[in-house]
Amino acid sequence: MRAVKARDTTPELIVRRLAHSMGFRFRLHRKDLPGNPDLVFPRLRKVIFVNGCFWHGHNCARGARVPKQNRDYWTAKITRNAARDQAAQKALRTQQWRTLIIWECQLKKANIAARIRRFLES
Ligand SMILES: [Zn+2]
Repeated sequence: MRAVKARDTTPELIVRRLAHSMGFRFRLHRKDLPGNPDLVFPRLRKVIFVNGCFWHGHNCARGARVPKQNRDYWTAKITRNAARDQAAQKALRTQQWRTLIIWECQLKKANIAARIRRFLES
């Protein structure tokens, strides 16, 4: 057992922590919204998705890396995920929600906090 609990650095927790530190209050994973958004800001009518590059088929180095084993299976699965994401975005827009997608690979960029703030304050 570690004496000090390691700081959880999963992408979603990083985004939650940033939004929280800016004073925004949100709910998590609202099942009644299309795509089950990771962070929901009901009063602002905004949602944030934190997407893993591999699972959601991001157009980046990590997103392009498909396992050599069962390549067809993974390609089909990721294509389905991406299609589902797009359908959810469209459905949310129809319901007047504004959405921000943050990709896992963007979290290390210095401007990520500013991007979140800009989205939530605009
Ligand atoms: Zn990416």
